Amino acid sequence: MNFEYAAAPESRSVVKIDPVYGHFINGKWVNGSAHFNTINPATEEVLSSISLGSAADVDAAVKAARNAFDKSWSKLSGRERGKYLFRIARIMQERAREFAVLETLDNGKPIRESRDVDVPLSAAHFFYHAGWADKLEFAGVDTTTAPHGVVGQIIPWNFPLLMLAWKVAPALATGNTVVLKPAETTSLTALLFAQVCQQAGLPDGVVNIVTGDGSTGSAIVNHPGIDKIAFTGSTEVGKLIARAVAPTNKSLTLELGGKGANIVFGDAAIDETVEGIVNGIFFNQGHVCCAGSRLILQENVADEVLEKLKRRMDKIRVGDPLDKNTDLGAINSAEQLAKIRELTAAGEAEGAGRWSANCALPENGFWFAPTIFTGVTQAHRIAREEIFGPVLSVLTFRTPAEAIEKANNTPFGLSAGIWSEKGSNILWATQQLRAGVIWANTFNKFDPASPFGGYKESGWGREGGRHGLSAYLKGSAK
Ligand code: NDP
Repeated sequence: MNFEYAAAPESRSVVKIDPVYGHFINGKWVNGSAHFNTINPATEEVLSSISLGSAADVDAAVKAARNAFDKSWSKLSGRERGKYLFRIARIMQERAREFAVLETLDNGKPIRESRDVDVPLSAAHFFYHAGWADKLEFAGVDTTTAPHGVVGQIIPWNFPLLMLAWKVAPALATGNTVVLKPAETTSLTALLFAQVCQQAGLPDGVVNIVTGDGSTGSAIVNHPGIDKIAFTGSTEVGKLIARAVAPTNKSLTLELGGKGANIVFGDAAIDETVEGIVNGIFFNQGHVCCAGSRLILQENVADEVLEKLKRRMDKIRVGDPLDKNTDLGAINSAEQLAKIRELTAAGEAEGAGRWSANCALPENGFWFAPTIFTGVTQAHRIAREEIFGPVLSVLTFRTPAEAIEKANNTPFGLSAGIWSEKGSNILWATQQLRAGVIWANTFNKFDPASPFGGYKESGWGREGGRHGLSAYLKGSAK
């Protein structure tokens, strides 16, 4: 039976978007000399004009961060730093609806996700790190060492506010100051966060936000006044940054791409597994580095799982991200849509079987129907490359050893999922899998206390938990 849903749009009146934004440097708004538009990817409506950060803007931000580090932030006790972090977390909670609507407008993700996942988890990261700020000696990190100083942070567009929280909260808790660049297509919640820093009375220059494109990111990476770089984004840009940082004294953490294997054993509870598969690949339009983008099914249950999965996919509601009923929103940009189309066309050309959910897509904006490919082999591009969209590649296996071999046959190593009734099977498989995060009978669960990061081309270092703290202290970790 199909249920009809009346539209239930969230009001955007809670959000005030300025026509033009400057950078946030030394606690003040500084207009850039050049600008670019940010649009709503669901409608292509221009939302605002954003400053394009130049090398001079980055230099001003680094000087402000250095000055704040030397004169105020490094002189504060952990207890005092913690108070600011608590204050930021509380203000984020108070302004949660504003953040959620703004994130959905600028990114295209469903309000259900920005409201229930991105914003609460972002506040939780500040609360969690506020708690550690005065207890670092109990965190198991080397507290005889000092904070790095000025940290340059570059984040992507898939979880704009959450990635900011993952970066800024541990940096401040450990006593560093920050120059952060949001992604070109999703600057607005970072700029709202700058207002929160002002509201919290954070000393000037502790957090600086310079908006811009790849050239702005590159200016941060190459600035001699920065002590550590923390980057989340593509493996390609991660490699460029690793090369740029290699001959310097800068520390570096990289959180890069993935091609997560979601392995379903024959004894799994099929209905729950189907929900987990849907959450694993269609959450956030599949714009998730740890997405379960390769489904690896035991042959004896493959037909049943695929039949139930297709039936479930036909019920995914695609459309207006501000509608509270929507499950799958807009693709973040025309460029990302072109990349998804190119890779899915390659999947068809290489002989995999394509099936898409039967859903009407809006006319304006950037959209892609939930899609699966069956008959995928290891040689196919759609099995090897990150699609970063609502597209699932399905492979099959006969023996557990074959499942592990296929799951590990990737240049990435960020995440994996295991679906099985047997604890012994789950423990055996987790020991064989080469992935930073492994979920059992669930997928895409995040918690500030849980470290996150990858092996191989998925990156260096961990974010979150006590491991993430050590990345922001000299000598504790690279
Ligand atoms: P990028 O790696 O290009 O962007 C990530 C961040 O780095 C953005 O802020 C970007 O700025 C900035 N940047 C770009 N070039 C440079 C540079 N040379 N030096 C320093 N910073 C730079 O990812 P994209 O957004 O272009 O996405 C491309 C692909 O990356 C996706 O299709 C996906 O496969 C993968 N990806 C993976 C993510 C993950 O979480 N692992 C997240 C996002 C993307 P700007 O936005 O202005 O270009």
